[in-house]
Amino acid sequence: MSAHKLVIAGNWKMNGDLSKVESFADEMDHGNDKVEVILFPPSVLISATVSKIKGAKIGGQNIHSAESGAHTGELSAEMLKQAECTYVLCGHSERRANCHEGDHAVAAKALAAKRAGLIPVICIGENLTTREAGEHLAVVRSQMAHSVPESLKAGEFMVAYEPVWAIGTGKTASVSDIQEMHDALNADLEKKYGTDQKVPVLYGGSVKPDNAQEILSCPNVGGVLVGGASLKTDDFNAIIRAGNSV
Ligand code: PEP
Repeated sequence: MSAHKLVIAGNWKMNGDLSKVESFADEMDHGNDKVEVILFPPSVLISATVSKIKGAKIGGQNIHSAESGAHTGELSAEMLKQAECTYVLCGHSERRANCHEGDHAVAAKALAAKRAGLIPVICIGENLTTREAGEHLAVVRSQMAHSVPESLKAGEFMVAYEPVWAIGTGKTASVSDIQEMHDALNADLEKKYGTDQKVPVLYGGSVKPDNAQEILSCPNVGGVLVGGASLKTDDFNAIIRAGNSV
């Protein structure tokens, strides 16, 4: 089984400016042979982030599934690739909720990412009602099955499990909740793709310096996708250090 580095990814969402890029360039810890650091800045900051921040791979927060065309306001996977992105988020819960992106649309974006040579980070996660009904495992496993395009192979994508009720709320899933879900997703991935190359499954949802180490130590957690705490270099560096210490 070839192991992937632990991934510490920061999703800046619609936050940040050139001065934040400068301060991250000066202060952010770099990835190394143990951890891969990825930043997902807003698209207009991608070029500055690529040229100034050398210790991280860069990704876009969204793409359109088409290669080009009359899609005002959208970006194609090819454009992100040309801007020297390596990754792209597909189906973040905020886009699923606010832009009505379903599994089918997310799979089309992930396929467009592969076509352009990007690695899609395919986001899935249940809402509170589903969790309280005890249907979280079935719902999230189905999301993964329908959001990952059939033609993708292990090594060509990552998954991010982000329970919607834990995003930006300060509520973190318990370690046993995280373990239960990651074990189930990993079992499905191994069944489909074999065990030669592990598909990284990141956890996201109120990851902070004080819980990062515990989460990153869980078997089958391939890294973390961090929102709020990725906007402060001190907090993000502490999470990178947690990854290094696991
Ligand atoms: C996210 O936006 O992917 C996220 C996990 O946000 P937060 O860390 O703020 O909960």
